[in-house]
Amino acid sequence: MPPPAATGQLFIISAPSGAGKSTIIGKAIQAFPKLRFSVSCTTRPMRSGEVAGKDYHFLSREEFVQGISSGRFLEWAEVHGQLYGTDGGPVEKWIEAGDDVLLDIDVQGARLVHCAYPAAKTIFILPPAMDVIEERLRKRATEDEEQFAIRIAAARHEIMESPWFDYIIINDNLQDAIEDFMAILRAGRSSRAIQAPRVWNFLMSL
Ligand code: 5GP
Repeated sequence: MPPPAATGQLFIISAPSGAGKSTIIGKAIQAFPKLRFSVSCTTRPMRSGEVAGKDYHFLSREEFVQGISSGRFLEWAEVHGQLYGTDGGPVEKWIEAGDDVLLDIDVQGARLVHCAYPAAKTIFILPPAMDVIEERLRKRATEDEEQFAIRIAAARHEIMESPWFDYIIINDNLQDAIEDFMAILRAGRSSRAIQAPRVWNFLMSL
């Protein structure tokens, strides 16, 4: 019988705009250099300070639609009037190589990926209150009034989906939220499924 194959863990993180998700992800990536972050594709215009290929792969609508037809995406969704999608190839390759992978996607995408990878761990970042989201979005000032209203409406909808996530982190204290997130990432590495190849080798050596 062949030994169990190494496998990586897939983590899906979702949150409404303004919940502090990007900060939490940034800290986790610094702390876990081996964690692979899946850079999504989007048709949204680049914001100032963003870097193509690091924050997103910025595609035209035509390129994105072509990607859908060619089966490029593990999942894709329309979010706030723009298209966003996860490149399937790298995700599959990393997991098979035993690397942990983090997807930062909306709740529609989370549902689809959870279907394709039932072992994926889903994590929702909840802001302490709705007015905190409004305040953070206003401070960030990356959206015009119309986009602001769209994001607030979408936030309500996203939060309604939070109860089905495996983990819910309430970001009322950023440092605690970062530590909670990192604890989830770390604990997964000790799970039976992830440790199976090493345990197998140990048992075979007895
Ligand atoms: P933003 O425009 O603020 O960067 O992202 C807007 C929303 O799109 C966020 O909720 C983010 O998680 C989501 N998003 C980013 N990449 C993807 C993706 O590849 N697929 C899906 N379904 N949502 C994504």
